[in-house]
Amino acid sequence: MDKYAVLGNPVNHSRSPAIHAMFRDETGQEMEYGTLLCPLGSFGETVDGFRSGGGKGLNITVPFKEDAFRYADILTDRAKTAGAVNTLRFNDDGTVLGDNTDGAGFIADLKRLKWPVSGKRVLVMGAGGAARGILKPLLEENPASLFLANRTLARAQALAQEFPETVAGSYEDLVSRGTFDLVINATSGSLSGAVPPLPESVFAAGARAYDLMYTPSGMTVFLEWALSHGCSHVSDGLGMLVGQAGESFLLWRGVSPDPERVLKALREMLRAED
Ligand code: NAP
Repeated sequence: MDKYAVLGNPVNHSRSPAIHAMFRDETGQEMEYGTLLCPLGSFGETVDGFRSGGGKGLNITVPFKEDAFRYADILTDRAKTAGAVNTLRFNDDGTVLGDNTDGAGFIADLKRLKWPVSGKRVLVMGAGGAARGILKPLLEENPASLFLANRTLARAQALAQEFPETVAGSYEDLVSRGTFDLVINATSGSLSGAVPPLPESVFAAGARAYDLMYTPSGMTVFLEWALSHGCSHVSDGLGMLVGQAGESFLLWRGVSPDPERVLKALREMLRAED
């Protein structure tokens, strides 16, 4: 039986085993997927041990995505762009492939939602790892413009230098920037109940708002704020979570699972636990 796991610290809270079990059942793949708690400072030894026990691949979560980046022999372009690895594949020739599926999972979820990016005015909030991971795939969808706002302006400016099609600024700068069709919250603000200080008139008619954070109900403080300030459609990041897992599954098994049924089941599971 081919073995996979999600490695992190902590890792017990991870939804990845449930998602991959559903993918496995849907596609009829022979595989098992568990959790692997990695002691801090022992990434290399823990991964080596998993590989020598027959492990075929790992998802990597906090705080080891940079360790995984360094561990891989071969990096995909999207891992290089993200500067972090969330998926390792142990190849039969002994090499280790490092990939980052977060950005592709995010775009897959926008497509599932049928939210167009091409020709739209896009605002991304945040300049951490999640924002970095989604910028390139977003730009590849040809938005009319992409504005990057962050609390610490210097971080947004540094990130925008790597993606010259973007314009970086502070939340205050947004006042003179007009309205946006798609507003993406890639900050961790919703975790602590904080809404970034957006101008009240930030949403264009028919605008959409996406929060990378997910909750059992599908609502976050930012999404509630968006709905009460003229935004017509909102989504939390549970579909992105399923999307990035689907991209990892494809990399390992060569088949693309259908996210819709898994997303529905996962939402029900979260609601039942809430
Ligand atoms: P991170 O690297 O720690 O970056 C956090 C970002 O949030 C920084 O830009 C920070 O601004 C900003 N921020 C934090 N609190 C804020 C506040 N109160 N007001 C305004 N800005 C604030 O975190 P990350 O890894 O990028 O993750 C960001 C979010 O994405 C998290 O909620 C995470 O759960 C989510 N995520 C979801 C998925 C998924 O599959 N759905 C995948 C990856 C990440 P400063 O630079 O000023 O500190």
